[in-house]
Amino acid sequence: MNALEQQLSYPLGDALPASGRTLEVAPGVRWVRMALPFALDHINLWLLRDEQGGRQGWAIVDCGITNDATRNAWEQVFAGELGGLPVLRVIVTHMHPDHMGLAHWLTERWGVRLWISATDYNVARLASTATTGFGGASAALFMASHGLTDPESIEKIKARTNYYASMVPKVPSQFRRLLDGDALRIGAHDWVCRVGYGHAPEHMALHCARLNLLISGDMVLPRISTNVSVIDIEPEANPLPLYLDSIERLRALPHDTLVLPSHGRPFGGLHTRIDQLKAHHDERFAEVMHACAQAPRHAAELLTVLFKRRLDLHQTTFAMGESIAHLHALWQAGRLLRRVGDDGIYRFSAA
Ligand SMILES: [Zn+2]
Repeated sequence: MNALEQQLSYPLGDALPASGRTLEVAPGVRWVRMALPFALDHINLWLLRDEQGGRQGWAIVDCGITNDATRNAWEQVFAGELGGLPVLRVIVTHMHPDHMGLAHWLTERWGVRLWISATDYNVARLASTATTGFGGASAALFMASHGLTDPESIEKIKARTNYYASMVPKVPSQFRRLLDGDALRIGAHDWVCRVGYGHAPEHMALHCARLNLLISGDMVLPRISTNVSVIDIEPEANPLPLYLDSIERLRALPHDTLVLPSHGRPFGGLHTRIDQLKAHHDERFAEVMHACAQAPRHAAELLTVLFKRRLDLHQTTFAMGESIAHLHALWQAGRLLRRVGDDGIYRFSAA
């Protein structure tokens, strides 16, 4: 545990649900943990005791990526952990592959509706069928315009046209829209949708005041900072202020809320974590300003400043997105100037 994590509390200790099993975190709320084939090696999913039209069952929150291992783990959960009850709906916090992947299979398997924000639903549908955008040639061009020019990386990014669809091959053909502030009656409790921007198009966290729980999705994580990236389809995007404003709005929830994050362990200390994340980005902003005060810099040059560890290609593309996000926040706040060079690369210097 790092020093920052020690400022948080972990009421469940080191307990983790085994694959195919669940762990109760509150009455009628169960934690499911699925493996992921990335450096970030797991995702947390949630089961909420539900009732619809007098029918008893469960709501699933988030799905895991599409692969046999995840499907098998779900089948084990269905066989052993639902008390013989059916799944009544599938709720997805946002469109990223680890959350959305198996939504098509789960909704078909149980004949139930997908509940998700309209923006994330539509972007997921587009991404799962797109052969351009979301990776491929336009992503490679965009990365090159921010200084990632080594031919090997560029070739690999160009070749990666199927990234989203490989984990989300299909999206349900219908959905029910979640809007910020919507109160969902799930079983005996109301859960209120809390929109978040900057990480996904229209991320929905779910808050239950009665149970004092926040299903935070990827908006507030205990150990790692949420990925906030600029990508090729919105090249002038400024997602970091959106993200920081979104988590600031979560400060309205009680500090002792038990946060159920998509990665890591359930934790207490919401306001402390919000403070930590703000401080983290303030430090990154200071480092970027310092580097850009010495000479005009492009995003790729800042990777060694912002990320002190070695990055593989997958991590490099995420890190590039984050580097550009920090530059854009400072550029659009008027603290940096952006110029495009004769080489077609954007460089940023102190205003
Ligand atoms: Zn995500």
